[in-house]
Parts: sequence; structure tokens; C-alpha cells
Amino acid sequence: MSELEDTYKHKGLRKQLVLEISKKGVKNSAVLAAIGKIPRHYFFDPIFENHAYEDKAFPIDAGQTISQPYTVAFQSQLLKVQPGDKILEIGTGSGYQACVLVELGAKVYTIEYQKKLYQKAIRFLPKLGYQPHMYQGDGSKGMPRFAPYDGIIVTAGAPTIPEELIEQLKIGGRLVIPVGNNDIQSMVLIEKVSENKIKKKQFNNFSFVPLRGERGWPSKGTK
Ligand code: SAM
Repeated sequence: MSELEDTYKHKGLRKQLVLEISKKGVKNSAVLAAIGKIPRHYFFDPIFENHAYEDKAFPIDAGQTISQPYTVAFQSQLLKVQPGDKILEIGTGSGYQACVLVELGAKVYTIEYQKKLYQKAIRFLPKLGYQPHMYQGDGSKGMPRFAPYDGIIVTAGAPTIPEELIEQLKIGGRLVIPVGNNDIQSMVLIEKVSENKIKKKQFNNFSFVPLRGERGWPSKGTK
């Protein structure tokens, strides 16, 4: 992790990044403000700090990635978070997306499959002043014990949409989930219109690490 120093240079680079994301089509001002506020370089090892304000995904521990900033912004915008919303994130990873959701005023529950990443996030995020509820385990079937949610965001690529996630949404709630094969996915937005009616939209081409667990991809084989 970086020394926790946020210099003028970092702030300048962050402004550039926000501009780049906005040019790519994310216009939600609260989302852009959150990206502009959170020092993304804090989530990087100091030797890789130069990469923190590139609009790219970057490797973290356990073979996983911190998502591309544009993707974080795009998913956050699709969620339409209102202050006070209860949001479930599946795939804590570095914890960066969870911090964005906290900045948007959400009450955040986040679950991570990899123990090492969970342990890192649970120690690190409070140091930055962020306190999402963090859990370790398989989130591919959601977290029914805290349901229903106003929004669910999945930050790993799923083979199909787990029915359980739709069940755990409030009426009017939104699910944002990348679905596809292991190389490329569509971002699917599900709005739960009533108990048994959903609206679905999809946006092309994203590339996430695979969702694991019961509703995810097996660890070996399928590629
Ligand atoms: N949101 C993260 C961030 O801001 O850094 C990006 C996470 S990375 C693209 C996807 C994460 O999903 C990985 O850390 C991976 O271990 C996790 N993951 C994969 N399958 C999961 C599952 N079934 N339950 C919870 N987390 C899972």
C-alpha cells in the first residue's frame, strides 16, 4: 500500500482521470465527485503508484484486479444510488468500489471470496475513514441475511444471472452484473419492477475476472 500522502500531483492526475471518464460518457456528478475525491493510489503498492490514475484495471493480490475507473464509474452510475440506500457489493477486491459507494451515501455491505483480500481491506479501509460492512465468503448467491437491498453490484464476471440476487432486491431495486464468458462480458442492468417482473438492459463489452463460488465459474477448467 502507498504511503498515505495525497499530493497536488495526485490531485491533478485525479482531475484528469475524472475528465477522461466523463468524456467516455459517465455524467453523474456524484459519481464523478467520488472518483475525484478518493485517492486511488492508496490502493496500489508504491512501486506501481504511477499506474493509479490510468483508466485501466490493475492487478492486486490473489490474482485479482482493481477495476478500471471508468467501469467503477459506469457501474455506480447504473446503480442510481440515493443517500441511505442499502447496497450489496459482491467482490470487495481492493475495496475501492466500496469506498465509492460509501461516498455516494450508501450503507454498504461487501463480500469478498479471497481471504487475503478481505483481510487487507478490513484493515485498510477504516484507516481511510471508510466503514462498509465487510464479509468473507461466497457472495455468488448474495447475502440473504441483510436483504432486501436497494441495489446489488457484482464486480466479477458471472456465467449467468443468479436468481437469488433478484430475489434479494427490493421492488424498484437495481442489479448491475457483468455476464458473459471468461474473456468478455456484457454489463446487465436488472430493475425489479414488481415481485415477479423485471426490466433488463445490457451494455457491451467489459472484461472482469471470473465470479467464483456456487453460481460462478469453477476454479479450473472452463475458460
Ligand atoms: N470491486 C473491486 C475493487 O474495487 O477493487 C474489484 C474487484 S475484482 C475485479 C473482483 C473481485 O471479486 C475479486 O477480488 C474476486 O476475488 C471477487 N470474487 C469472485 N468471486 C466471488 C464470489 N463468489 N464472492 C465474493 N467475491 C468474489
